[in-house]
Amino acid sequence: MRLKTYIVGTMTEAIPMIKQDLGADALILNTKKIKTGGFLGFFQKEKLEVTAAIDPVAAPKLQQAEAPKAQPIAKPNRNTDSSTELISELKNIKQFMMQQVKAADLPEAFQLLKERLAAQEVAPDVQTDLLAKLMVKDELNTDPTLENVWRLAREELISIFEQNQPQPVVKNPEVICFIGPTGVGKTTTIAKIAADYMLTKDKKVGLITADTFRIAAVEQLKTYGSILNIPVRVVETSEDLTVAIKDFHDCDIILMDTAGRNYQQTQYIDELTRLLPEGSKVQIHLVLSLTAKYEDMKKIIENFQSIAMDELLLTKKDETSSSGAIVNLIRHYGIPIRHIANGQNVPDDILAFTPELASDFILGEDHHA
Ligand code: GDP
Repeated sequence: MRLKTYIVGTMTEAIPMIKQDLGADALILNTKKIKTGGFLGFFQKEKLEVTAAIDPVAAPKLQQAEAPKAQPIAKPNRNTDSSTELISELKNIKQFMMQQVKAADLPEAFQLLKERLAAQEVAPDVQTDLLAKLMVKDELNTDPTLENVWRLAREELISIFEQNQPQPVVKNPEVICFIGPTGVGKTTTIAKIAADYMLTKDKKVGLITADTFRIAAVEQLKTYGSILNIPVRVVETSEDLTVAIKDFHDCDIILMDTAGRNYQQTQYIDELTRLLPEGSKVQIHLVLSLTAKYEDMKKIIENFQSIAMDELLLTKKDETSSSGAIVNLIRHYGIPIRHIANGQNVPDDILAFTPELASDFILGEDHHA
């Protein structure tokens, strides 16, 4: 057994040193934060003490209760190419960071960020992942001020959201079917989007409603249609829908309303499948209220495995102060979001989703910026 201890600024610094001294099979046995230098306790610098060894058999005995699990620095197979080795190293670093995130002794700014994410109801795994990414950043190891932590957290969130942007529309007309639980705001939101396409984007819009379950729902959409001077078709079957789409062939976009259903019950998903013409290019946008419990949102999305869902639309942002579901949904399901509705006023209370806006919702607009 050869043991060696390193005093480093960050874990990323330690890995190449350990590899050079002890080889690719070395194990990290322990890590702890220490203070070095300074005068009478002032001006001390926080460093990381990393203990590594090359005897993997003895490693578990040396492990301390709080220490991260011993991990080979690289896979023992020396024939692996350098990219495999690098991925393996990164996985080790990530796992180490995950363990650090769970530890109670996070630097204060990280602790405050963690509290903010928890208050916003960001899921624990999403929180841990985000914090782990921040902890490997050199800038935050040397200067973990509140401002720096917030700025880099914002950058990370923006990059998460950027990877899940809605695709530009290629079909003409674009047919969007809005589905979702009762009362989430489907009809109201359709009216807002219709007004935006017509008044701001100068596009020709067609409206369809399949919500014949409630007479008032048909009337509601017809009222919006007559105010905006947009034609409205009522459909009951898949055949009706095919005809309505054909009739609206000169429209740029067709927006379709459906009855609010409890999609935690799969029978309603079958009902929807029967309504949509087979092989049709109708896009499915699931409307969810941000006031709903995240667990309920998950259940609905998971019930939709048989129907490919194209986008999510979130409503009632104005009725809740927690926005964690936005990042949870993107991280867990990767379904893009195009709009967030934030009030009852038609046509004004709707926002185009942008990575910056969503990050501001989660971290606070001017908090620590
Ligand atoms: P649907 O059953 O899903 O079609 O829902 P509706 O469009 O009929 O809306 C149900 C209620 O939610 C109505 O009172 C709407 O004014 C309200 N609503 C819709 N969107 C929003 C929103 O973004 N914020 C708030 N606070 N209320 C909304």
